[in-house]
Amino acid sequence: MTKIIGLTGGIGSGKTTIANHFRSLGVPVYIADDEARIIMQSEEVISSIKESFGGTIFEDGILNRARLAEIVFGDPVKLKLLNEIVHPAVKKHFKQWLLDHEKFPLVVYEAAILFESGNYKDFDWIITVSAPLESRIQRVIERDGVTREQVLERIKAQWSDEQRVSKSDFVIENIDPEIAKRKTEEILKILKIKQKES
Ligand code: ATP
Repeated sequence: MTKIIGLTGGIGSGKTTIANHFRSLGVPVYIADDEARIIMQSEEVISSIKESFGGTIFEDGILNRARLAEIVFGDPVKLKLLNEIVHPAVKKHFKQWLLDHEKFPLVVYEAAILFESGNYKDFDWIITVSAPLESRIQRVIERDGVTREQVLERIKAQWSDEQRVSKSDFVIENIDPEIAKRKTEEILKILKIKQKES
């Protein structure tokens, strides 16, 4: 049976970079945040969002994601409401994706919030990608053209590296890209053996 590797890490830690390395090593990768973005445009999700948040969140029939983010940011009740719409839809989509990849011994599920969402129980192993806070801040400022304050706000909403690491099976410290790649390969080797043994 396919084993699922949960891959997480704070913003700017390099999750997607490591996920892409897994992909280049032949492991199918599901990037939950990208899939969620697509799923949020599905008719089913759109109609639930309209019902819960009202029509003003749409412009010419298109969901205004920035406006929605503004509404839920700092309002735990509204954030919970949105999560209750989006999370089950992503879960259902991932279930189908898993069936489509059932011939693979290992797959990777990458998400920024694995622990925070309670999703971590669904995985066979969890890998945390970590990096020094200052490097993460600089990477995101460069990548997204945002301010330091905006990055810090997003970091505050997530678990700390210490919290993630304490609940993970493996940690990939992503400072030197080559060392991080080698660590990824080492972990994959171990998990291939574990998968065969199971
Ligand atoms: P997010 O949570 O925002 O999706 P992420 O954890 O997936 O972020 P990436 O998008 O993989 O992180 O990396 C963030 C940025 O840092 C990217 O521009 C990436 O190219 C760069 N980066 C990744 N790893 C390193 C590294 N070891 N050294 C320098 N830059 C890196």
